[in-house]
Amino acid sequence: MILISACLLGNKVKYNGEANDNALLMRYGRYMTAICPECLGGLPIPRPPAELQDGDGQAVLKGDAYVMNKDGGIITDNFIAGAQKVLEFVKKHRIRVAILKANSPSCGNAMIYDGKFNGNKIEGQGVTAALLAQHGVKVYSEKDIDEDTLQKLIAMYREE
Ligand code: SF4
Repeated sequence: MILISACLLGNKVKYNGEANDNALLMRYGRYMTAICPECLGGLPIPRPPAELQDGDGQAVLKGDAYVMNKDGGIITDNFIAGAQKVLEFVKKHRIRVAILKANSPSCGNAMIYDGKFNGNKIEGQGVTAALLAQHGVKVYSEKDIDEDTLQKLIAMYREE
């Protein structure tokens, strides 16, 4: 089974109540299980956008960074709770690969916004991507995936 960010499959779960439709992934959606860590962490739809402060998802998990929304609300606990619920699901179903939304403070696998709410990005993982990577899950973003790669991943992981 392949885990995927719910917003990439057309689910309207992102902060502004919209989705991040990805046509390729949606065509193969029957082979994937969709999750939204921020929703699992108890955050509503819509919600103010959030960015990681003082570090990336690895730093948040260590307690060295935190999560703040654009209104100044501290929502670190929601992000960590959502990530832990995703990890529980991953362990229960022995999932070894995930395709998560690029640049998200939860789902980003390589880049995140820099915490200043100005659109600039820095290297780093979101909180859920970081926790999954710590536990051996291979985390891709939709930007890493073309049809050939996706078909290979499905062939490798669909029976698991
Ligand atoms: S937390 Fe992940 S799945 Fe949920 S809306 Fe943000 S990017 Fe999409």
